[in-house]
Amino acid sequence: MKPTPLELARTALLEERARLMAEQEEMTIQAPDPMTYGSQAAAASQVFAQQRDLALREHNQLLIEAVDAALGRIDAGTYGICITCGQPIAAARLEALPAAAHCIECQKKAAAGRHR
Ligand SMILES: [Zn+2]
Repeated sequence: MKPTPLELARTALLEERARLMAEQEEMTIQAPDPMTYGSQAAAASQVFAQQRDLALREHNQLLIEAVDAALGRIDAGTYGICITCGQPIAAARLEALPAAAHCIECQKKAAAGRHR
């Protein structure tokens, strides 16, 4: 039996979620390397690495939340519908970005608003 587009989307979202969670895990268990203690330059680069990891984790967390929200919309039966204007989101966009919550038009408007 051929999976429906909704089933495909759910599978893609679950895979994406698993990948993001694994990345989150990887970044969390990274313990400081005792070899890098002692030199100031090493300490500075470690602080930099920690800040970078933190930024990545925050970014990752947002992606996980977007995926969770999309999974929630599948269950609610509103998946693929723009949460801003209520219009259907293009299938090609959902294929490329299964967690997309906005249609391309609203996404453009939001991006334009941010950069103004
Ligand atoms: Zn829209």
